[in-house]
Amino acid sequence: MNFNAIAEQAIAKQPLTREQGLSVLQAADADTMDVLAAAYRVRRHYRGNRVHVQLLSNVKSGLCGEDCHYCSQSRVSEAPIEKYALWQTEKAMGEAKRATAMDAKRYCMALSGGQPTDREIDRLADMIREIKSATPIEMCLSIGFLSLDQARKLKAAGLDRVNHNLNTSARHYEKICTTHTYADRVKNLMTAKEAGLGICSGGIIGQGEDDDDIFDMFDALRAIEPLSIPLNFLIPVKGTPFADIDTKLTPNRCLRALSLLRFMHPDVDLRVAGGREYNLRQLQPLSLYAANSIFVEGYLTTGGQETPAAIQMIKDLGFELELESAGEDSLGDAAE
Ligand code: SF4
Repeated sequence: MNFNAIAEQAIAKQPLTREQGLSVLQAADADTMDVLAAAYRVRRHYRGNRVHVQLLSNVKSGLCGEDCHYCSQSRVSEAPIEKYALWQTEKAMGEAKRATAMDAKRYCMALSGGQPTDREIDRLADMIREIKSATPIEMCLSIGFLSLDQARKLKAAGLDRVNHNLNTSARHYEKICTTHTYADRVKNLMTAKEAGLGICSGGIIGQGEDDDDIFDMFDALRAIEPLSIPLNFLIPVKGTPFADIDTKLTPNRCLRALSLLRFMHPDVDLRVAGGREYNLRQLQPLSLYAANSIFVEGYLTTGGQETPAAIQMIKDLGFELELESAGEDSLGDAAE
């Protein structure tokens, strides 16, 4: 397969065929650098050499009634995690200010649980209002299932974006969760969109899916039109149903998946998310030839690369930290 031809096609925003997509995922390890070099052409065309970092806080942990098999906060998980109710505003404000001080572009808050209560929404709206009036940082909330009224309330408070991942293909969904459906997730994304919120939506690979599932998930995201796509790489956490799953993830495979995502979503904000350190190991820096964004200091219940090391990695690559928030979402057609 000619990966440069795929890059040209991606730059022209022509969708990949399934055959092309599978050829990327199934390329030999020895050809991964060819795949990545082609993905980098697309990334550089639409996103230059800029990288932005995001800080994520788990502002409510555990105590969830859903059974997402990958998640250590689910009702079926026995992983020894910290469990706590929604943070007070002062604590979130402190973290938002810390994110601002470390030049993070966006501060993301995540809450465990399926549907937030109206009381939680009111508290979150106050929290967002206060943080937005005290800092210039953009805010994203990963919050489960919202009613339209709840989504509108958060939007009115100044929330920029909602994260809700498709997580896997429609076909594979019942293998990763039984308490809600893939269709519920799509509906929730449409609700957030209707309220005028920006969408962040991606998935997790390594959950027993096959390559067609990965292609289908990436393809389904096209209809969602997310501004940002986080790609997570499963960490099989002890105590969760996926503790002993064979993820089939190797650093090379992770790089090919990121490259495919870049080919299929040439201009989006593509984030290397959870499991970066665990699954990409020494090849982590290479992920930024396809992606343009990373989390620092960890994820919901697992730690991650510290900010100084992440910034050094970005500098060592010769890339620059993206600080400006204005206009990011309209970079779509802005070639270098
Ligand atoms: S991913 Fe969210 S909804 Fe699913 S079990 Fe974890 S906290 Fe609950």
